[in-house]
Amino acid sequence: MGEEIRCIGCGASLQSEDKSLPGYLPQSALQKVLDGENEEVYCQRCFRLRHYNEIMPVALDNDDFLALLNSLSSKKALIVNVVDLFDFSNSLIASLKRFVGQNDFILVGNKFDLFPKNSKESKIKDWMRQEANRMGLYPKEIFLISAAKKKNLDDLIKYLNANSQDQDVYFVGTTNVGKSTLINAIIDKMGDVQDLITTSRFPGTTLDKIEIPLDNGHFLVDTPGILTKKQLASRLSVKELDLVSPKKPLKPATYQLLPGNTIFLAGLGRIDYLQGPSTSFTVYASRSMYVHRTKTEKADEFYAKHVGELLTPPSAEDDLPPLKGQEYHIKYRSDVLFAGVGFITVPEGCVIKAYTPGGIGLGTRRALI
Ligand code: GDP
Repeated sequence: MGEEIRCIGCGASLQSEDKSLPGYLPQSALQKVLDGENEEVYCQRCFRLRHYNEIMPVALDNDDFLALLNSLSSKKALIVNVVDLFDFSNSLIASLKRFVGQNDFILVGNKFDLFPKNSKESKIKDWMRQEANRMGLYPKEIFLISAAKKKNLDDLIKYLNANSQDQDVYFVGTTNVGKSTLINAIIDKMGDVQDLITTSRFPGTTLDKIEIPLDNGHFLVDTPGILTKKQLASRLSVKELDLVSPKKPLKPATYQLLPGNTIFLAGLGRIDYLQGPSTSFTVYASRSMYVHRTKTEKADEFYAKHVGELLTPPSAEDDLPPLKGQEYHIKYRSDVLFAGVGFITVPEGCVIKAYTPGGIGLGTRRALI
């Protein structure tokens, strides 16, 4: 049979010779099509895209990504930046501000299920807005959701429906923020659209976008996840990332401290208590993360001796810069942020020094709890 068989997703001619070329399908799967056992078939790439497991990550300053952003500024669109509430500073896409233009822009804070039960939504949103404004981004709305637990999705979907009457909706986000989980959850709530998903190219790029048709003739467009070197997700192994990522709502662990004490969050975070009264610091981090208290004068030696062993992650294979610290004079009760790992609440009036690898993702905010 000389007839060419095409992928029903991208239309590429199916082949099983070269994985890197369009239309690739493993020989066994292709054979089923040839034998007539399977009539409608996707190439491996479309299959993976459809199931959202493997949307390719790209580097943030990649030309393709800039072209993608550029293409957003030239059309009327609602731009949705999905962010990880536990890695907010690294998942807010600052370069968006050059491209949002006249378009509407909203922030969706994901993984809200991990916040301690008594967290105040309004406080979290205030903090997100301040940080976004500081980076020159002015979100029209902020949503706090959990894609995994399908929490607060109805409000978001209502907003998207109401705001897609005359424009498409573009989802952007760095990898690991849960963008795929969110898109899947939205599709799930929308009913029978799975079969209508199409992939197409951003003009001028090699990147695919995935279009999900809405009832009103417009589309939800899922863009590729962007990988920034600043995220732990790009530096740690899958297993390590799993270990430091909280799975359940964070429970406080309180440590009674004196100046001269240090706390390590595995090998990924450190806080030195420099000045102040005897007081307590409250650690919010994954329960599987090893937390160690020691004397500051011994901390460097302790770290050098135990990093990669007791203090894991990181391990020797990870490409992480050494810990770098910054001093903070805490004026009001604050959360000291360790991006991707958690936070430590410290009382007003103390002086601390906090460290992360390369100082990445360090920051403070008014205590949320
Ligand atoms: P993407 O790279 O942005 O598409 O992110 P994924 O959807 O693959 O999710 C990245 C990681 O975050 C996975 O380990 C998910 O299980 C986890 N995740 C996604 N959404 C949530 C959520 O709402 N809550 C929690 N706790 N984890 C989530």
